[in-house]
Formats: sequence, C-alpha cells, structure tokens
Amino acid sequence: MVNNFKMVIIGGDARYVEVIEQLSRSVQNIFLVGFERKNVSQANVIQTSLAHINFSEIDAILLPVSGTNKDGKVELAPYAEEELIVSEEHIAQTPAHCTIYTGISNSYLDEITRKHERTLIRLFACDDLAIMNSIPTAEGALQLAMEHTDRTIHGARVCVLGFGRVGMTVARLFANVGAHVSVGARKSAHFARMIEMGLRPVQIAHIKREAAEIDMWINTIPQRIITEDILSSFDPSSLIIDLASNPGGVDFASAQKKGIQTIHALGLPGKVAPKSAGTFIAHTLIPLLKEHLPRH
Ligand code: NAP
Repeated sequence: MVNNFKMVIIGGDARYVEVIEQLSRSVQNIFLVGFERKNVSQANVIQTSLAHINFSEIDAILLPVSGTNKDGKVELAPYAEEELIVSEEHIAQTPAHCTIYTGISNSYLDEITRKHERTLIRLFACDDLAIMNSIPTAEGALQLAMEHTDRTIHGARVCVLGFGRVGMTVARLFANVGAHVSVGARKSAHFARMIEMGLRPVQIAHIKREAAEIDMWINTIPQRIITEDILSSFDPSSLIIDLASNPGGVDFASAQKKGIQTIHALGLPGKVAPKSAGTFIAHTLIPLLKEHLPRH
C-alpha cells in the first residue's frame, strides 16, 4: 500500500469494477467519479464528483479504456449518472508529478497533457496488455459470429484483416474451431507467420479479388479498409464484424446500402469477460503506478 497516495478514477465500464477491487489493495486513497450506479464496499474507495475533487492533491488519474472523445467527454461510463468531462483546467490543477493513465488516447488528451507537461500513459500501447486483451476480444468476435450466422463457424470461409495483436488471436481462434481462415496483411514476415500457423495469406491490396469467396470478414485494421469499391465485390449475404476502434475500418453506409450485415463491435472484453479483462488492466497498471510514483 502506497501511503498518502491519491488517485482519481473518472468513468469506466465493467472492467474497472475489477480494476478498482485490485487497486484498492495497493493504493491508499481512491476517489471514484462516475460510479454512482455501482455499490463500492472498500473503505479506501470514496464515491465523489468531479466538482469535489481537489486536483492539486492528486497523484494519478485513471481514465477509461476508451479515454475521452475529442471534447474531453468520457465515453462508455455505464455507471455514471451525469456526463463526465475531463477539462484542461483539471489537468492544469494537478501537481507536476501527477500521471494520467488511459486505455487509448486522442489528440485532445495528448494536447492537454503535453501543454501542462504531465505524463500520459496509454495502457493499451503496452504490448503485453494488448495481447492479453486480444483473448476476450477474439472470444467476443466468435460469439458474435455464431449469433449472427445460421451456419457453423467450422467450415466457414473467414477473412481476417490485419495481423497485429488482435488479428493474430482472432485468426488463430477461428482456425481452431475449423474455419478456413485467410488473413489480409502487407508484411512478408506476417505472411511467413500465417503459413506457419496454417492460415492463408492475402495481400491487403488484393482483398477485392477474394471477396466473392468469403462468408465472414473480421476487420482489425484501424483505417478505412473496406471501402465502397471493395464492398462492390462482397457477397451481400456475407457478414462483416469490425473490431477496429472508432471510426472503424468499414464504409458502413455503403455496406448498409448493399444489404450486408455489419457489426461494429467495440469494447468486447468489457462485455464478454470484464473480470478477466479488468485483471489484465490491473496487472499492467499497478506496477506502472509503483514505478511512476514519487516516494511519499
Ligand atoms: P495492432 O497490433 O497495431 O494491429 C493493427 C494491424 O493493422 C496491423 O497488422 C497493421 O499492419 C494493420 N494496419 C494498420 N494500418 C494498415 C493499413 N493502412 N493497411 C493495411 N494494414 C494496416 O493493433 P491491435 O492491438 O491488433 O488492435 C487493432 C484494433 O482493434 C485497434 O483499433 C484497437 O483499438 C481495436 N481493439 C478493439 C477491441 C474491441 O473490443 N473491438 C478490442 C481490442 C482492440 P502492419 O503491421 O503492416 O502495420
């Protein structure tokens, strides 16, 4: 337990219930904002509001996995009773050593922390957390695939786009349940790994040629990759599951026009396995907190 350490948690989904549980064993004072609809039993965890926080005494701030939107509004705050906005003034009031932790960042968070010279840690930039998090993400994608098709995944022709932390786990899981998995990527090392894993490599530039042969697409590329042009070759009965963070990688309007079933499935770890996903976050965050803290 770090003495006199004060941390504020501003919003978060079901994963943060587990994060709070685990943090409460290491951090002496935790102020919770945006958890009004959740009962918290730990004596060192205090429910409060943004207006009641004395930011000049705060050593660390934890933002949700999704961070904020471009106006500072905290997204995905299912336990919050009111809108939560992290403002530049909040950051300005913190002591110089205060560290801000977020799942992912954006230009708003980058800018307000840079301007006031506060350290911003993007937890999901840590490879180990992103890889662990890919496990419930892939399981959630499989669950959605089963729910939204009337055939087995075994034998389905699945194309995964992207072969990063999430793409690799998704491709492996779908192949393990018997799907015929091809993967769209652009690096020769990725193609070699796919061959080693028994997956079919496809140059991302050539996915249009493959389109008619695919029953299900799972996108993990955080760029507009499934464009109107590429969609023109899709079988209208195919299913697209887009896992890429907002705004996603699919031209959703064009897909809808073509009648293609498209799901932009965000925050899957928090929906399908919040306890495991929260544990992964806590296991990354707690050592970082201990590392970045000034000695009290
Ligand atoms: P990652 O490890 O960085 O992988 C991204 C992949 O996209 C890489 O294979 C990269 O290829 C490829 N890529 C990027 N730009 C490309 C382009 N212009 N053309 C072709 N390929 C491109 O990221 P990740 O950890 O797998 O996460 C992927 C996405 O899923 C992110 O948006 C992340 O926020 C999101 N995510 C969503 C959930 C959910 O619940 N939906 C959960 C976890 C993560 P190169 O290696 O060749 O650059």
